[in-house]
Amino acid sequence: MLLGILKESAPGESRVALLPGSLKSLIAQGTSVLVESGAGEGAGASDKAYADAGATVTADRASILSTADLLPMVNAPAADDQTKLKPGVVVIGFLRPLDAPGELRRAIDRPATLFSMELVPRITRAQSMDALSSMATVAGYKAVIAAADRLPRLFPMLMTAAGTVPPAKVFVIGAGVAGLQAIATARRLGAVVEAYDVRAAAGEQVRSLGAKFLDVDLGGINTEGGGGYAAELTEEALDRGRDLITRTASHSDVIVTTAQVPGRPAPRLIRAAAVQAMPPGSVLVDLAAPAGGNCELTKPGVTQIINGVTLLAPLNLPAEVPVDASNLYSRNILNFLGLIVKKGELSVDMADEVLAGACVAHQGKPVNPRVAKLLETVSAS
Ligand code: NAD
Repeated sequence: MLLGILKESAPGESRVALLPGSLKSLIAQGTSVLVESGAGEGAGASDKAYADAGATVTADRASILSTADLLPMVNAPAADDQTKLKPGVVVIGFLRPLDAPGELRRAIDRPATLFSMELVPRITRAQSMDALSSMATVAGYKAVIAAADRLPRLFPMLMTAAGTVPPAKVFVIGAGVAGLQAIATARRLGAVVEAYDVRAAAGEQVRSLGAKFLDVDLGGINTEGGGGYAAELTEEALDRGRDLITRTASHSDVIVTTAQVPGRPAPRLIRAAAVQAMPPGSVLVDLAAPAGGNCELTKPGVTQIINGVTLLAPLNLPAEVPVDASNLYSRNILNFLGLIVKKGELSVDMADEVLAGACVAHQGKPVNPRVAKLLETVSAS
């Protein structure tokens, strides 16, 4: 069985799906590994490091695409690459099956078996494969660092001979994986932190990090979707959150916003008025930008300065920390491969609940019912 590691082709992508350190057990089982030259460069892994780990390095991308039986990737292969895949290949990565299912059409038709890291069920057995959490952790950290870098103030309270510097005030919206890491990072830098989430369960986690949890009375409606995720809220419930956010924005030096509902556009929680209410020089980082953004002024991928407030809308913060992001992702991928590689050969058991949950398409047909429905809509339009 041949496993291929490609250089990611998306603009700005610096991560790699598998680092040399993760190859040992695969090669020991008899798996052959073919790596595209430069694949690990952005993540600090040289061609030599891959060769030393027992892989073969080649500059011939097309030969990897046409011969690999297994392709762990960070992002979905580009349309042109999909047409070159070996029929029957297994592709694993952040394939965006619910956001952009139409972009997988060529790979499905090859046919390729597609597993999406976004769809790995959040059950205890699959925790070591939870790449969404790994990347959210990196993004939450980096969002605070980016904000601290832009803010014309210090984060910690300082008591000096020249007087006292008050601590920065940070407001985190959405206390999931990214939000909790943003809170922890801001606290480590000495900021005073407030946070808001619709899931009541988030309150205790926020408080345990030394931040204040802001409660909103949503009239007792259910805010929990399945798998620890939030449910999509009514406009009325969203409005109560928006009012709280506008009030809190007026005394926040930094807002990091992370609110998401899987498979849906990000909820629009931050009104233009909230941005206008922020103190001059303050910074808003919209981590929900890839899903459209939490702020109504957000332009995904564009940095704006609006009335003196810097609004950052990064699309791929993990790629700005490529070494550790790749380290974590590589381990998530290796753990996932443990389910489908047995004694160096591919062995895919679709009865396994993790594989069944993560599978987008198999033998030319979409497997995931939500993806199948979305693809019907794409084909019809
Ligand atoms: P996510 O990225 O989908 O959303 C981020 C946060 O936004 C969530 O906390 C969500 O509640 C919040 N949110 C959504 N709509 C909102 C709104 N209108 N207003 C305010 N906040 C809103 O979620 P995530 O960070 O990937 O995960 C959320 C939770 O899932 C985690 O905190 C954890 O409890 C759970 N989880 C479980 C596992 C596991 O069991 N293996 C793994 C990871 C996460």
